[in-house]
Amino acid sequence: MSTLTARFWPKVKKENGCWAWTAGRNSIGYGLIGSGGKMGKPLRAHRVSWEIHKGPIPFGMHVLHRCDNPSCVNPEHLFLGSNYDNVQDMVRKGRNTKGDRHRKTMKIVAARGDENGSCTHPEKVPKGESHFNALMTEIKVIKMREMRRSGHRNKDLAKLFRISPQETSLICNRRRWKHVI
Ligand SMILES: [Zn+2]
Repeated sequence: MSTLTARFWPKVKKENGCWAWTAGRNSIGYGLIGSGGKMGKPLRAHRVSWEIHKGPIPFGMHVLHRCDNPSCVNPEHLFLGSNYDNVQDMVRKGRNTKGDRHRKTMKIVAARGDENGSCTHPEKVPKGESHFNALMTEIKVIKMREMRRSGHRNKDLAKLFRISPQETSLICNRRRWKHVI
């Protein structure tokens, strides 16, 4: 069986400074690489890249992107951050793209969850800004559940994501946003 490093390189395409991941990606654009074992879940390619070039990722830390390209695995475009940095980074990227108005829209989309038409009629999701909002919200939902699983309290998550504790628990218990893994 080939090593992770040996399987990593053929999937990287260096272009314009970024190292694009040419193999599989998850729903929010992160590159995926098989862990090697038969039962193992795929690993995130940018985290693998960090470990290859910079060493082990300290427990609980996230590998974040300096570039706005989730499939990029260039270690020079990556940095380590806490859960808090991670969420701030997501919010900042959303805000930088569309300004404050954008952030407000994201909050509303997040709060409405399943009632949002796009969940039951995905074909109606328009391109452009609304599509971007939906993607940002999915990223938040995934992060929120990840953080809940790693032991963060409901009320802390509510504060961090600026929604009510009730809404946070509905999302984490998959009563909202069921379609998001
Ligand atoms: Zn990059």
